[in-house]
Amino acid sequence: MDAFGRKIDYLRISVTDRCNERCVYCLPEGYRGWQPRAEHLEVAELEQLARVATELGVRKFRLTGGEPLLRRDLPEIVSAIAKLPGVESLGLSTNGTRLASCAGSLRLAGLRTVNVSLDALNPAVYRRITGGNPQAALDGVRAALAAGFECVKLNCVLMRGVNEAEIWPLVLYAGELGVPLRLIELMPVTTSTVLDESNFLPVSEAMQRLGERDELVALPERHFGWGPARYYRLRHTGAVVGFIGALTTPHFCDTCNKMRLTADGKIRPCLGDHGELDLRPSLRQVRSDDAVREMLLLAMARKPREHQFRNQYQPCRPMTAIGG
Ligand code: SAM
Repeated sequence: MDAFGRKIDYLRISVTDRCNERCVYCLPEGYRGWQPRAEHLEVAELEQLARVATELGVRKFRLTGGEPLLRRDLPEIVSAIAKLPGVESLGLSTNGTRLASCAGSLRLAGLRTVNVSLDALNPAVYRRITGGNPQAALDGVRAALAAGFECVKLNCVLMRGVNEAEIWPLVLYAGELGVPLRLIELMPVTTSTVLDESNFLPVSEAMQRLGERDELVALPERHFGWGPARYYRLRHTGAVVGFIGALTTPHFCDTCNKMRLTADGKIRPCLGDHGELDLRPSLRQVRSDDAVREMLLLAMARKPREHQFRNQYQPCRPMTAIGG
């Protein structure tokens, strides 16, 4: 439990700050702040941390980045965490562009769920946002479905004037594949130039527009897992859409159950708050479960009541360095 009575049972682990795409909302143009690779936690360190976290009640883990598929030892990380007693869910967040060749081996290693970022189907719009090509991501989605993961979801960050026209095609695509699509409000976790008011599209507006095309039927809370999305089924198309409104949903943080670990070993109790604790010395020098446990408990105790995104928040490092 944290200081506000929230049960912290979810840890998002970033395994690298590197990425092969250049999403405008995540990675500032010309970014040069890459962490030295030697600072990234190694498989045994991640395993120890996850094991101690399970002893404190953490049940769900998600591997993220940067782009986690850039880590060559990702299957080893997956299998080390998957086999720990107490792990009920192990997921991956990826841009999907390198998933086609490794989805099957990750599934065999024990990965259970996959979220693929897909902000547009139109190649020009996709390129404008990510710098890349959507076909590779679409191949990744197909490979994930063929590999038999327990759940595959699509994530789309809403940007007014950029991918608004992509929302409906993405809904239809997700409906065809039978996977949930989550529409995510843009959060201020990169340079402010990308995040001015004119780019911001609230989930309420996206919901209203979908409601003009189809009827939205609310699904029970936690229908699709452990995160903050509120899910609806579109009655006629059958598509399932989740809305994540970190900035506009009242009491968004009241049910927050997660903390983050950066690739360089900092525990971050809240994405939208600068507070971090350095866990790496406990894992690399002290190497004691007690020290790791103490740091995790301290981080839980320091988790703020809510994020600072509505208070002129300026990130001290971009999303790619924190872990999405
Ligand atoms: N590279 C992987 C991917 O593309 O999913 C994992 C890391 S990425 C940082 C994880 C998630 O964070 C993605 O769904 C991405 O869209 C989301 N994200 C990054 N920056 C964001 C922002 N400024 N606002 C909202 N979501 C953001």
